Amino acid sequence: MDVRPFWLAGSPATGDDELTVTNPHDGRVVGVGSVPTPDQVEQAVAAAHAVRKEAAALPIHARAEALAHVSRRLAERSEEIARLISAENGKPIFWARGEVARAVSTFRFAAEETRRFSGEAQRLDTEPAAAGRLAYVSRQPYGPVLAVTPFNFPLNLVAHKVAPAIAVGAPVIVKPAPATPLSALVLGEILAETGLPEGMFSVLPVPNDRAGALVEDPRLPVVSFTGSGPVGYAIKDRVPRKHVTLELGGNAAAIVLADADLDWAATRVALFGNYQAGQSCIAVQRVIVEEPVAEAFTAKLVAAVDSLVVGDPADDKTQVGPMVSVEAAERVEQWVAEAVAAGGRVLTGGGRDGATVAPTVLAEVPGEAKVVREEVFGPVLVVQPVGSADEAFAAANDSKYGLQAGVFTRSIEAAFRAGKELEVGGVIIGDVPSYRADQMPYGGVKESGIGREGLRSAMEDYTYEKVMVLTGL
Ligand code: NAD
Repeated sequence: MDVRPFWLAGSPATGDDELTVTNPHDGRVVGVGSVPTPDQVEQAVAAAHAVRKEAAALPIHARAEALAHVSRRLAERSEEIARLISAENGKPIFWARGEVARAVSTFRFAAEETRRFSGEAQRLDTEPAAAGRLAYVSRQPYGPVLAVTPFNFPLNLVAHKVAPAIAVGAPVIVKPAPATPLSALVLGEILAETGLPEGMFSVLPVPNDRAGALVEDPRLPVVSFTGSGPVGYAIKDRVPRKHVTLELGGNAAAIVLADADLDWAATRVALFGNYQAGQSCIAVQRVIVEEPVAEAFTAKLVAAVDSLVVGDPADDKTQVGPMVSVEAAERVEQWVAEAVAAGGRVLTGGGRDGATVAPTVLAEVPGEAKVVREEVFGPVLVVQPVGSADEAFAAANDSKYGLQAGVFTRSIEAAFRAGKELEVGGVIIGDVPSYRADQMPYGGVKESGIGREGLRSAMEDYTYEKVMVLTGL
């Protein structure tokens, strides 16, 4: 099998070692990547640093054209890239196609947003002391962005960092997850067609034990990290003076109030508790349901979960595929066993076959169990009946995480109360917490992270406001 090059300052390169990527469904080798040497990592950082001023001065039309080109090429190559995502990640092809479509729209929107990001003039003569003065307020990139991304959305989560970086004129170095680097390498191929200046982007699949050099390098002042809490916080602790954004985990709650459309709620919770085999930071994990409808809703939920098609991710009909590895599936299996030993009941699922965990619904699980308190990151739903809407909000807030929450209700009053009470970065009314539009701000409170993504928010995150005052007007 040909070794896929990585991208060093915009050009293909190979290093001193190889990285074999396998399909978690059947262990088949999907591709072989190349691992950059420490010297090559140094070259990429030096090139990003060297080009930073040129990058910041890139005309907006040039940034917009480059971003639009990426969007178009992703669309043209969408089926090929979806197949690659599906194979390297084990994600059902249906969801992988959705992931490419999202990346197409992320780059398209970035091409538009960069045109709206040109700063503003502010008259200062609102106060007598500033008469005759005008401020021009622009946003300047801090400098090159280090983008560290996880395995679960190997294209989208890279796009969420690369598109805003180009949009603000910041060089970007991507360090993709070792399990799923291939989609990011294809994105590198497309970026190389844009004619962006040398050094503007690199995609470096460095192993974790070599990533410290990138994280700590002072020439990369921005670290945008998406991944698990322990790794994210360790990075932040290592570089307290850098501008660090952390998009971390969650144990998202879907709240089903007594007035909800139970069929819709059951269908959505079943699907989004299990999509990507539960490996999404906003997959539904805790299902908090008001007691009057708990029995009826739970029956519908179990039926909806049982109707999900589990199987080969390459099959068009498959809704739930394998987890990223057998080890990940074994961990989930063990957490379910712990919950059952503590008194929990398995309403459906509970089994494992290799890397595939059967979609599982649990009830009567004590609140201290890991499947409630921690991030399961697997296809497991825990049903928790509560006595009232207030109890539901309190139960949802009883978490160290706070990414998003979903609330199924037909009451506008309950919707507003949820919006006020829930301690999360996003409240989704009428749907699961897993809803995300890439142009809206996205991120968490508590241990779910620091800072926001979403095109505009990430562009603000990578830049600082700079004021130039004109005197004598
Ligand atoms: P992870 O933390 O293991 O890895 C994330 C990235 O960090 C990978 O690229 C990994 O190689 C890198 N990394 C690991 N050790 C490192 C080190 N010492 N120095 C520098 N980089 C290092 O996460 P994962 O298992 O790939 O992804 C799952 C996690 O990501 C879950 O917790 C999930 O909730 C979270 N996530 C969050 C969001 C969000 O937007 N909030 C989105 C997707 C996933």
